[in-house]
Amino acid sequence: MRTTQLYAPTLRETPAEAEVVSQKLMLRAGMIRKAAGGIYTYLPLAWRTLKKIEQIIREEMDEAGGQEISMPIVQPSELWKETGRWAVYGEEMFRLKDRHDREFCLGPTHEEMVTSLVRDEVRSYKQLPLMLYQIQNKYRDEIRPRFGLMRGREFIMQDLYSFDKDEAGLNVSYQKMYDAYSRIFTRCGLQFRPVEADNGAIGGGHSHEFTVLADAGESNIVYCTACDYAASDEKAELKPVEAAAEEMQPLETIATPGMKTIELVAESLHVPFEKTIKAVAFQNEKDEVVLAFVRGDHDVNEVKLQNLTGALTLRMADDAAIQAVGGVPGFMSPIGIKKGTQIVVDATVMGMYNAVAGANAMDAHYKNVNPKRDFIEVTAADIRLIKDGDPCPHCGAPVKMTRGIEAGQVFTLGTKYTEALHATFLDENGKEKPLVMGCYGIGVSRTMAAAIEQNNDEQGIIWPRAIAPFEVVVVPVNAKVPEQLALAETIYAALKGAGVDVLLDDRKERAGVKFKDADLIGYPVRITVGPKAVEENIIEVRTRRTGNTQNFTPDDYLDEVLALLKTL
Ligand code: ATP
Ligand code: MG
Repeated sequence: MRTTQLYAPTLRETPAEAEVVSQKLMLRAGMIRKAAGGIYTYLPLAWRTLKKIEQIIREEMDEAGGQEISMPIVQPSELWKETGRWAVYGEEMFRLKDRHDREFCLGPTHEEMVTSLVRDEVRSYKQLPLMLYQIQNKYRDEIRPRFGLMRGREFIMQDLYSFDKDEAGLNVSYQKMYDAYSRIFTRCGLQFRPVEADNGAIGGGHSHEFTVLADAGESNIVYCTACDYAASDEKAELKPVEAAAEEMQPLETIATPGMKTIELVAESLHVPFEKTIKAVAFQNEKDEVVLAFVRGDHDVNEVKLQNLTGALTLRMADDAAIQAVGGVPGFMSPIGIKKGTQIVVDATVMGMYNAVAGANAMDAHYKNVNPKRDFIEVTAADIRLIKDGDPCPHCGAPVKMTRGIEAGQVFTLGTKYTEALHATFLDENGKEKPLVMGCYGIGVSRTMAAAIEQNNDEQGIIWPRAIAPFEVVVVPVNAKVPEQLALAETIYAALKGAGVDVLLDDRKERAGVKFKDADLIGYPVRITVGPKAVEENIIEVRTRRTGNTQNFTPDDYLDEVLALLKTL
């Protein structure tokens, strides 16, 4: 391909709409253009990268036993009503009606569609296991589409669904997909971690998220500094911290005028945070109050609390709601709350002695709170959010936190959808059973953005070779000089012949402009053909990531470039 024939309108200025690096660089590099919030056109450079990611995914899915299909994006509401998700999916689902007033949605995911497909065709255990996948657009009317391709409303996803005859089979399929996903992200040249994930909403079984490490990521992940434990912070379990035993002192009320936060109380009483108990009040989707108590220096893990209490959503409670259950906002304690209110106390709090907590009265706190003695009719459970330095739940070594981008997720679903949709088969004994299912998804367009978030510098993108739109760009310094252009053409043809994905920047632009564009778009290798090439037989090979340059002659560069590419 020649640059004069490539539609890649680069921009010198950063568009005002760009919030994150990947979005900024893709707009500037002429890779994407916005059509509406969260909806983008992919220009040739982006499309080439997307096709490369898809090809890697296809090869690994096929290798693992997957079969590619293509299901409809427009899906009838009836299927979604059978599983109950038409009602619960809410506003994130794009809905439409046909001319006969029949309801449809644009597929946000395909569990219903694929299950309805196999329920009509799969009859016997002999047809199992079965793995079907597709790569296509998904539609989610996200509440806040943002960060360019990272959180779009129209985006490309690879989704595979596995069907097995039993749990053991499902576990085999899950492991195959886990391994395939690990290979995919490795082959894409990305630094990533598979992390244990919460799967609350989708239900049942276990789950891992494949997280591409990058500071701009929306996911917080923890990993152990000693063993290979890694989890999303929402999922990370914690063993309760046992405080050193003390003799329990009698409960005492102390005046704390205006001290509505535990920080203020700790400071003015000169009590360490580890000796204080903090209250957080939530309301669930039914407006019921859920009170949570954690140690002063800890935070509530809302996902754990949600799963534990069975809430579909949790939000901060308003003062009126807190007062209605007998709580005093800013001074709350489990003591004196109306019976029947959901009170969850973190397991670590239950192991504290002579602590400071709210007294459930205006401007007052308690001293010498001993939760084992004083907190009755509460649920004790692990509801706290893990933080840097906490002990690893597997080996006890300190954990570290990092940020990442969820690029893929694998779930075991069990029989949730197959039971709802009556997708059954006959087992070896002729007994009818529901198929046992798993689902696996990679955000293809998000992976492209994540790759840029992880690999960039001031000048622009630094593509890992495997997913670069072109592997090499050949730049004649002055394309008006026939000898330079002719040599560049020869090199271009030779690389092409050797199977390299190469671009010839044949524009009659200044060299500076071409170099800037090459750095911005981020081709892994640039070969410069300038006056030295014509006069001294020297061509320059530059590696984008390191900025290293090496000189070769037109006779000996080819093998060197091929070897170099293998390392990028
Ligand atoms: P998130 O938690 O980020 O909203 P999700 O858990 O809802 O994502 P899944 O249903 O697990 O997403 O979808 C599989 C993959 O699809 C995700 O791992 C992600 O890479 C991608 N994906 C999901 N939502 C979006 C989106 N709005 N834009 C781009 N990619 C997305
Ligand atoms: Mg997910």
